[in-house]
Amino acid sequence: MQTNFTLTQLLDPQVASSEKILRACVHCGFCTATCPTYVLLGDELDSPRGRIYLIKEMLEQDKPATREVVKHIDRCLSCLACMTTCPSGVNYMHLVDHARERVEQTYKRPLTDRFMRGLLARVLVDPALFRLAVVAGLIARPLAPVLDLLGLHRMAAMLRLTPRRRPAPPVDRVGKIYPAEGTRRGRVALLSGCINPVMAPSTNEAAIRLLNRHGIEVVVAAGEACCGSLAHHMGREDEALARARNNIDAWTREFDGAGLDAILVTVSGCGATLKDYGFMLRNDPDYASKAARVSARARDITEYLATLDLRETRTAKPLTIAYHAACSLQHGQKVIREPKDLLSRSGFIVKDVPEGHLCCGSAGTYNILQPALAERLRARKVANIERLAPDVIAAGNIGCITQLAAGSAIPVVHTVELLDWATGGPVPEPLVALASSEPPAG
Ligand code: SF4
Ligand code: SF4
Repeated sequence: MQTNFTLTQLLDPQVASSEKILRACVHCGFCTATCPTYVLLGDELDSPRGRIYLIKEMLEQDKPATREVVKHIDRCLSCLACMTTCPSGVNYMHLVDHARERVEQTYKRPLTDRFMRGLLARVLVDPALFRLAVVAGLIARPLAPVLDLLGLHRMAAMLRLTPRRRPAPPVDRVGKIYPAEGTRRGRVALLSGCINPVMAPSTNEAAIRLLNRHGIEVVVAAGEACCGSLAHHMGREDEALARARNNIDAWTREFDGAGLDAILVTVSGCGATLKDYGFMLRNDPDYASKAARVSARARDITEYLATLDLRETRTAKPLTIAYHAACSLQHGQKVIREPKDLLSRSGFIVKDVPEGHLCCGSAGTYNILQPALAERLRARKVANIERLAPDVIAAGNIGCITQLAAGSAIPVVHTVELLDWATGGPVPEPLVALASSEPPAG
């Protein structure tokens, strides 16, 4: 694609980097076929190619983002299916991240929008506040239809996504070390994160048990907190970078102290961001190399588990699993085979979901900020899953787990909980009834 940036504009390293991305696009349109918003809306401006043109214009003209541009960028899920499809290697992720930052800097959103975004950016990243919000949401859940009638669709969507049971009591893992059982074979850091400890503490519990059982010491580094992913995807770049620096400091102390083989993540959306820290901080002389080291060592939990020889204990039932590939895992991190291979090797019958490349509509805060599109995508995903008649849905991202659990009666669990169960851990809580109603395996 031909671009028309001035030399002065190109002195800005971010503009220079986006210009390179724009020039790689040959307008072929292959990406439109796998873009969820284009599939739903059929509007070129809601396709990757259309958005690339809008972003090009916005950056070249160096003017504040317009309402029209913001509408189409906001509708993008950042699912990155377009990057998987693109034959020219266009890095749409870095381009749309730049565009979101430009929107945040130059566009004044309506008051309700600003309020909602501010609320999400504040509450979701603070486990104590988020826990309170979940409890309040649990009580207010029946009011969702009333809020819809009042036109408060985002608040209604938030209530509908609230889990039906109270969050588990808080467990503070930050700063703790979980020693390996038997001979130590490795040492890793595990990201505790902000949403997981409230919505699904069982995921990291299972990850720690599983790793320890296989000789891996786990540390939740002192000082670590939210990875900045949610702020990054909202274009709040200063906040995202501050959070990234905080975590880089925490893991650097571990690298320089007892050492780390890897930094493991059980939320694939956060994993994709950690792997991008090196790029996000490439122009920061104090952090560039430390950030690059963190990115180089960041692994999805299943990537790391695939390097271990997982013990089989046959405690798991031969259940049929519909494996839902989170976009941030399959498109963002290109981790495709590992979760399915690990599950199959552990005795589960693993089925791929038709149209597996399409997002479930979760996408960070998308299911709250764009509830109508998110619900359509979820309905489509759930219909595809239910055609497989699985016993369980497995996924590697808390956002997808929450999104799917709100739209299906089939239990949804994290992949690592199934692997923990299959290698000697307890039955995942949502499967207790199912496990006891089936004859023992093998
Ligand atoms: S990231 Fe997803 S929604 Fe956005 S343009 Fe690419 S395919 Fe479409
Ligand atoms: S597939 Fe790649 S090169 Fe083709 S239009 Fe989409 S982004 Fe551009």
